[in-house]
Amino acid sequence: MTEAQHPNKIFKFCPSCGSTQLRQSGDRSKNCLHCGFHYFFNTSAAVAAIIFDPEGRIMLARRAVEPHKGQLDFPGGFVDPNETAEDALAREIQEELGTKVNKMDYFCSFPNTYPFAGMEVMTLDLAFLVELETISDLTPMDDIASIEFHHPSEVNMDELPAQSMKNILKKLNERI
Ligand SMILES: [Zn+2]
Repeated sequence: MTEAQHPNKIFKFCPSCGSTQLRQSGDRSKNCLHCGFHYFFNTSAAVAAIIFDPEGRIMLARRAVEPHKGQLDFPGGFVDPNETAEDALAREIQEELGTKVNKMDYFCSFPNTYPFAGMEVMTLDLAFLVELETISDLTPMDDIASIEFHHPSEVNMDELPAQSMKNILKKLNERI
């Protein structure tokens, strides 16, 4: 897989008029000198669920899809347009684990760079402490292959590729 590139390198033509006169404007936008179109590479919001079991272990999902297929992640995903972070988390939990969220409390956020289709997608990952309706007999679905429970201090950081997830786990370990 080729390394993902910053959107400034990917976007070569104006998306509005097709001109080649698309110029970088600062480090996060491009401006068309021909028609005036100006596009900002804004941060995408994503959510991550920290779910404890009764033994004080946290749930991690083994990814079924690229990027980082086969590696670990917190359950969660991107926030859809016009959706709250809370609704996105409840939807992702339903899609990935087939259960409902009983309670969620905001924990922290960290920025991340998510490689997708050859491009670096800038995200802000919002982590919540989550209680589910049930954590037994869950069926992993959607973009997760299986779930595992680990003591937060014993997670192998090499298996957690996203820098934001590493940072969330570090912050969690500081609080325990
Ligand atoms: Zn243009």
